[in-house]
Amino acid sequence: MAESEQRTDGDTVLRAGVIGWPIEHSKSPIIHGYWLERYGVNGRYDKIAVSPDQLDTSITDFIAQGYRGWNVTLPHKETMFGLVSDLDPAAQRIRAVNTVVVGQDGALTGMNTDGYGFITNLMQSIPAWQPQTCQALIIGAGGAARAAIDALIQQNVKKIWVTNRTAEKADALVQDFAQYASCLSTVAWGKTADIAAQTTLLVNTTSLGMVGQPALNVEDVQFLPEGAIVYDLVYAPLQTELLQTARACGLQTVTGIGMLLHQAVPGFSAWFGQKPEVTEDLLQKLLSS
Ligand code: NAP
Repeated sequence: MAESEQRTDGDTVLRAGVIGWPIEHSKSPIIHGYWLERYGVNGRYDKIAVSPDQLDTSITDFIAQGYRGWNVTLPHKETMFGLVSDLDPAAQRIRAVNTVVVGQDGALTGMNTDGYGFITNLMQSIPAWQPQTCQALIIGAGGAARAAIDALIQQNVKKIWVTNRTAEKADALVQDFAQYASCLSTVAWGKTADIAAQTTLLVNTTSLGMVGQPALNVEDVQFLPEGAIVYDLVYAPLQTELLQTARACGLQTVTGIGMLLHQAVPGFSAWFGQKPEVTEDLLQKLLSS
């Protein structure tokens, strides 16, 4: 098929995908593949391994091949931020891009939908969640933490504490977001016991607790107030040790899989022209994959 033909809707196949290095583990093709079938879209969603030194040339190739856009995963989210010509407000604030949309003229718009996924999952899982009284403790200061913090700021939460193994990264994050909110401060790693009693939302944004990784030290969970929410962005395993401990303490819990599902919605809408639904059926398909 000629490259130009692929850019039109007609009978041609609309193409999108996910790029990362490595990429084998990505679950995005399952999500988008499910929606393509469900909505009868004549499209495909590819899993593409792109090494850091190939990123520039790969992007040029994708545009020439007629890709509508692509998701971006580790380690390219920050680099992609500097390679697009336009940014949505969330990507601008988070300073990372996880979704790219190719315009008719080939210009790239970078979006960050992780915060949208984070907050949509929280609100759907705990409909009674009240941002105005929320005092959040964010564990970690990487890309996922930035997205979660941005989304919480957009909801005007009352307080955000950030703690990270590497203190400098937490300091830099708080400094970066200071222009958007005055409710952020850092807490030294391992010294969060003092604020546990005031924490109404604890979020693990580190990779601790993931399959093959040590568990997050969960001692503070027992000091969280009644009704507090514990949200783990790790989704493999789904019920992490952190969430199991929280449940045993009678706290509310939110798993990370819903964030993964919801962050995919804006990309699919932009590339394939149909806002997809996150359903129980899709969730079960993903969990059994
Ligand atoms: P990242 O930018 O590399 O950040 C990793 C974070 O984990 C940093 O804060 C890092 O601390 C911390 N960390 C790693 N190993 C640690 C250890 N042994 N002890 C203490 N802290 C440690 O990665 P990311 O993109 O933010 O992703 C972080 C996690 O969130 C991953 O598990 C990822 O799968 C998950 N995630 C889930 C979703 C979802 O949709 N549910 C979306 C995005 C990410 P240092 O700064 O000290 O290294």
